[in-house]
Amino acid sequence: MKPKVFVEMASRVKNLPPYLFASIDKMKQEARARGVDVIDMSIGDPDLPTPSHIVEAMKRAVEKPEHHRYPSYEGMLSFRQAVADWYRRRFGASLDPKTEVLSLIGSKEGIGHLPLAFVEPGDTVLVPSPGYPVYPVSVLFAGGESYLMPLRQENDFLPDFSSIPQSTLLNTRMMFINYPNNPTSVTAPRKFYEDVINIADKYNIIVCHDAAYSEIYFDDEKPLSFMEIDGAKDVGIEFHSLSKTYNMTGWRIGFAVGNAGVVAGLGKIKTNLDSGVFQAIQEASIVALNTDERVLSGIRNTYQERRDILYRGLRDIGIELEKPKASFYLWAKVPKGFDSSRFVIHLLEKSGVLATPGNGFGAPGEGYVRFALTVTSERTREAVGRIKKVL
Ligand SMILES: *Cc1c(COP(=O)(O)O)cnc(C)c1O
Repeated sequence: MKPKVFVEMASRVKNLPPYLFASIDKMKQEARARGVDVIDMSIGDPDLPTPSHIVEAMKRAVEKPEHHRYPSYEGMLSFRQAVADWYRRRFGASLDPKTEVLSLIGSKEGIGHLPLAFVEPGDTVLVPSPGYPVYPVSVLFAGGESYLMPLRQENDFLPDFSSIPQSTLLNTRMMFINYPNNPTSVTAPRKFYEDVINIADKYNIIVCHDAAYSEIYFDDEKPLSFMEIDGAKDVGIEFHSLSKTYNMTGWRIGFAVGNAGVVAGLGKIKTNLDSGVFQAIQEASIVALNTDERVLSGIRNTYQERRDILYRGLRDIGIELEKPKASFYLWAKVPKGFDSSRFVIHLLEKSGVLATPGNGFGAPGEGYVRFALTVTSERTREAVGRIKKVL
């Protein structure tokens, strides 16, 4: 037998926060094993298929031998050009495809690697909380320190920069922001992005805006891109992904755009760790980025119908929540007498409906649960009926 020290994990792994979602998953498996018909609203993964014209483009692309070799590190120029063209059409933002666009193996990959390029041990990184768990973990792996910016309802779930001590800002290297926001489902106004640029400029902070949900919006209110705000490109980048827009989470392709120096830094890390995105996927993604607006509004309408059912249903039961403007989540207050975890367990055990406890996204998420709109309208209606019976 090898000595025990052989399997001792590095401190950066041992220091990872406990993975709350693992216990939820276990509970789900156990409920299913007992024969419970679980309505799983805990997963941020579209249930809809990738539109067929994209799948067909992939079938054609995969036949081409030139795609079977290593791709270029930064992505095919034709893919990066398609990203730049899409930004111009959708946001009126101009990007140089050669220096301001980088392909990613999903935006999670880029977010996870970015701090390695810019964060020195001991540097502070501002991280929204509740938020996507990858932000603080990427900071931890780079040896940095996360300063959690609480997102509170009374502040429209935007960070309150005025509450951050000056000494912290002076030590801050980078900031993550994410709108439309997972898990709170709010969008950010132009003024917010202008404040971000002012702070970043004043304290020399690299801004990383995660815009994964910019195309999942409701009531025809289009969310902004960080890149359409004057001065954004001087201070940071935006992460984007085909995952949510085109139901392509399994394909693993995203991109980072914006400041050429930041894009180059991330590119340098990636060149040393991975070998780019399968070119057939890039070619199919060019087709995806040129998808007919009617297809996309069909997808949005599907989510909007589900949102309306769940929002009205929960509100009528007496659960406090705001109507989501974007993303495919509902961020709801837990009823009196529960905390996040106990409410999720209660719902699962008594109704078979599974939501995500808000505290899994960070301590300020305590008192909330997140429902994902990734089950059909019929099942969503059924979920509302079941929740009503157990409250
Ligand atoms: C889903 C999601 C992403 C996208 O992940 P991919 O790696 O591109 O699939 C990024 N940020 C947030 C907040 C998400 O919820």
